[in-house]
Amino acid sequence: MALACDYRLAVEGASLGFPEVMLGLHPGLGGTFRAPRLINPVDAMTLMLTGKSVNARRARALGLVDAVTQERHVANAVRAAARGDVNRSRRPFYAAALDSAWVRPLIARRMIVNTEKKVDRKHYPSPYQLIDLWQHHAGDVARAREEEIQSFARLVTSKTGQNLIRVFFLREALKKAEGENNGGGIGHVHVVGAGTMGGDIAGWCALSGFRVTLSDMDPAMIAGAVKRARQLCRRKHRSDIATRDILDRLIPDTSGSGVTRADLIIEAVPEKIDIKRSVYREIEERMKAGAILATNTSSIPLETLRSEVREPARFLGLHFFNPVARMQLVELVSHDGTDAGVRDRARAFVAAIDRLPVPVRSAPGFLVNRVLTPYLLEAMLLLDEGMAPETLDRAAVDFGMPMGPIELADQVGLDICLDVAEMLRDNLGGDIPEVPAWVRDKVEKGDTGRKSGRGFYAWSDDGPRKNEAATPPKGTVDRLVLPLLNTCVACLREEVVADPDALDAAVIFGTGFAPFRGGPLHYARERGVDDIVGALEKLAEEHGPRFAPDKGWQQLR
Ligand code: NAD
Repeated sequence: MALACDYRLAVEGASLGFPEVMLGLHPGLGGTFRAPRLINPVDAMTLMLTGKSVNARRARALGLVDAVTQERHVANAVRAAARGDVNRSRRPFYAAALDSAWVRPLIARRMIVNTEKKVDRKHYPSPYQLIDLWQHHAGDVARAREEEIQSFARLVTSKTGQNLIRVFFLREALKKAEGENNGGGIGHVHVVGAGTMGGDIAGWCALSGFRVTLSDMDPAMIAGAVKRARQLCRRKHRSDIATRDILDRLIPDTSGSGVTRADLIIEAVPEKIDIKRSVYREIEERMKAGAILATNTSSIPLETLRSEVREPARFLGLHFFNPVARMQLVELVSHDGTDAGVRDRARAFVAAIDRLPVPVRSAPGFLVNRVLTPYLLEAMLLLDEGMAPETLDRAAVDFGMPMGPIELADQVGLDICLDVAEMLRDNLGGDIPEVPAWVRDKVEKGDTGRKSGRGFYAWSDDGPRKNEAATPPKGTVDRLVLPLLNTCVACLREEVVADPDALDAAVIFGTGFAPFRGGPLHYARERGVDDIVGALEKLAEEHGPRFAPDKGWQQLR
């Protein structure tokens, strides 16, 4: 709509962009040809191809808007534009050359090469169709309009389009959880532990408008967290003034005095039962009535932790994922004594900080780590059988995962993977394969993955160093993905999560599970439950009972 107008005015602080590509689409209603005609076509295409947004000032510099104004001056700015007193942005003089029929194919070629590095045409056709529209039809508006309609219609009715739209609605459903609850009545958050997780949770809450006190035994950790919060503000296009306000809200609290005023306390100290319990003993005496106590534990059952909690009804888990600013999911973990009102308030709080809350029951590994572990362990067993890590990763990426399991394990940290796998094995027994001894040796040697510079791969600032991947042998994807699906079905049967849609959403937003497949259970249904059960039975014959189909498949038939 805005592109079809004579003037475009942006309010300071606005973000502008074309997010359609995230839904497997491209802009419609003329967007695909209006944007490249308005500004430098390469900038317009980059915005549409990446779905990334720019702040109002950058939009002004690009020529996407004619003026940036403060909210209180909007009426005046509109009047000035109507009088013709606002200078229109001009398209740069060289833009016409970039848009000429001679140059477009050359630029389009580069765009295709760059897009191929990021997404597979087979799974995500929309950026390729967008490039095609610009390359072949940018010179003829009437034709461009016709072709855009055709192309858009193909995308919106395709399986990928439908599944991505499904994912969009799954996300909306989780967000709606907030309802009228207004942030759960929470104004002040206190975070204990300013490490990787606590520091970033505190920064994220401050960015989202909450007053936050952050405590740690080590003041240097708090200082590091504040520095990261400043970087986060920059990445999120916050102005200097907004950044100052956000950092004002993030209060270093070496003495832990924020506990007495906080409505919500999030504990993010190391994953050790004794440390966590002693923190609860210390803070619970000082917590105000009605305040919520949450833990970010990723593996300790809440039933174990609550034994030292005086008021278990107000105790629950808020399991954020790493990195906090990128991972949208938060598992909202209840034990059988968590008060339902407390859970609802915590859920509203998570939605208010623009994360996606999925309620789960306190069970070993909760949901996401439980379903990821068999997938990661199977990858390690395949390495043991001699498959190259690059080949394995390629199999998963070809399926649609954002990265392969070996790279993911390195990213998460092999020490963390090992801890979670052992905890699951202790709690769930033989269903979880044993971690190969050489992986344990790696961790003992300190080769814990990306954070130490070496894990399965050697890491530098540019990412993991990888060799060329061979074509994965047939059946590799099933060996990796079916244990994950099988565990999803077990979690549903055990009511770790309430319904299949919440499960699909959690696994997509918590693990990156190929979004265009609409979620693991949706994929299973589309492929056919009988087909999957048959494949699992065959794998069980070949490789052992860890592949035995879960009883829960019966209910999905
Ligand atoms: P971390 O080691 O980076 O940070 C822990 C911080 O707690 C340190 O800064 C330490 O100084 C501080 N601390 C220790 N004892 C304390 C005490 N008694 N009082 C106050 N502060 C104290 O750990 P992390 O990786 O941030 O993990 C924290 C929690 O989050 C753990 O329960 C972990 O399982 C969970 N978690 C971690 C990840 C991850 O990827 N790192 C992901 C999800 C959840």
